[in-house]
Amino acid sequence: MRAIDVRDLLESPGSSRTVHVEEPVPGLRTELADVPEDTPIAADLTLESVVEGIFVRGSLEGRFAMRCARCLKTFERDFDVEMTELVAREPGPDDDYALEPDLTLDPEPIVRDAVVLEMPFSPLCRPDCLGLCEICGGDRNLGECPGHEVTDPRWDALDVLLQHLEALPDEGPSDDDDRTTTR
Ligand SMILES: [Zn+2]
Ligand SMILES: [Zn+2]
Repeated sequence: MRAIDVRDLLESPGSSRTVHVEEPVPGLRTELADVPEDTPIAADLTLESVVEGIFVRGSLEGRFAMRCARCLKTFERDFDVEMTELVAREPGPDDDYALEPDLTLDPEPIVRDAVVLEMPFSPLCRPDCLGLCEICGGDRNLGECPGHEVTDPRWDALDVLLQHLEALPDEGPSDDDDRTTTR
């Protein structure tokens, strides 16, 4: 995103101005969601000159492309995020953002952080998505899974354990007197 010249604001504390920025922000991506790089994020921001620097507040609008965590279908959803941040002139340890040395304001880090917070970790194409069948991979939303005979997976684990025990050589911690034969 282009830097915003804020020297005029810094010269008159208390003054403010609104800006509209509309640009793509690359690299906004989590495992199941991203902001497509050809989709601009529109920011309507009010920049206010305060003693510490520039106070930025406003809204960000854009579009998430997502993959359903249950059925893996792709879908899109618009987002609208409100944000309020201070961009400090002389940043201290508690300041997350700072003005550039040439007294411009780069909106990109603020926009990026606000949008990432909004990105869903576990997006669902619809709240009651039935997901894919673990056995045949069919999409249960589309009735693709014919249904299967159900066995309790806990018994599978027990079967494996029993097979393992049977396969062990017959020595183990036996009662008492045959220590000399092993090892
Ligand atoms: Zn789904
Ligand atoms: Zn199935």
